[in-house]
Amino acid sequence: MEKRLEGTVALVTGASSGIGEATARRLAAEGANVVVVARRRERLEKLVATLAGGGRRALAIEADITEPAQARGAIQRAVAEFGRLDVLVNNAGLALVGAVAEAPEEEWERMLAVNVRAVLTMTRAALPHLVRAAEDSSRRVADLVNISSTAGRVARPSTAVYSLTKFGVNAFSESLRQEMQSKRVRVSLVEPGIVQTELDTHLRADVRETIAKQTGGVEKLLPEDVADAVAYVVTRDRRVAVNEMLVRAGAQT
Ligand code: NDP
Repeated sequence: MEKRLEGTVALVTGASSGIGEATARRLAAEGANVVVVARRRERLEKLVATLAGGGRRALAIEADITEPAQARGAIQRAVAEFGRLDVLVNNAGLALVGAVAEAPEEEWERMLAVNVRAVLTMTRAALPHLVRAAEDSSRRVADLVNISSTAGRVARPSTAVYSLTKFGVNAFSESLRQEMQSKRVRVSLVEPGIVQTELDTHLRADVRETIAKQTGGVEKLLPEDVADAVAYVVTRDRRVAVNEMLVRAGAQT
């Protein structure tokens, strides 16, 4: 396979499981040096051990990106170690769904912190490096990919606050896309449907049961299906900008 990201550096948040882990693997397979960020260090170390090699490097950074200093620190460390940043994938997220009237507000705080605040901090810290990478590299383009959701396009009962965060990510991304166009930093959205990951393990037991009943008949996407979408976006020639990819499970309405 032609390694279309050879010589680039990609940072993926939330790479200790699910979509982030699959994306880190996929970008490494495309030749990128990969920086993986999350709180569970052990998971990251195991991943890095499988990614490095063949002239490619990988780095694990333990960080709680809801803490702005840790989020900025992750970007700084990546650039200090690898000298550049070509691709940022803002993937880390939480989907603590459930009816508004019954939800503990603490769940909303956690979702706002990771799905919104952390995306803003990571993005702001990464932008000057992405601009520089777009100027310096033979690719002459850099990429910011935000992982949103079908819930960022359609609000349904029980997704109110999750949808609020993901609709927000979509609006932020579209505005930023226009701001960064002249700098050749592509800003893209990937919006997955239902994916088989650890996302639902954070739900309250009763909510988890209800959701499992609602989605039981649907064959879920695999994390690799979403990683494919991210890889497609970031491996396009610079003349192409894939602004948005909505990837539902085949049987999902
Ligand atoms: P997982 O729960 O498997 O992965 C979430 C990742 O986010 C983990 O690696 C977790 O790592 C990381 N994370 C959470 N909080 C923090 C934090 N404070 N600091 C750093 N990292 C953090 O879920 P998915 O892979 O499914 O989710 C990835 C993204 O995909 C999310 O944005 C989600 O909204 C989106 N998505 C998922 C869908 C699905 O059906 N699964 C559907 C649509 C969108 P750690 O705990 O080690 O910190």
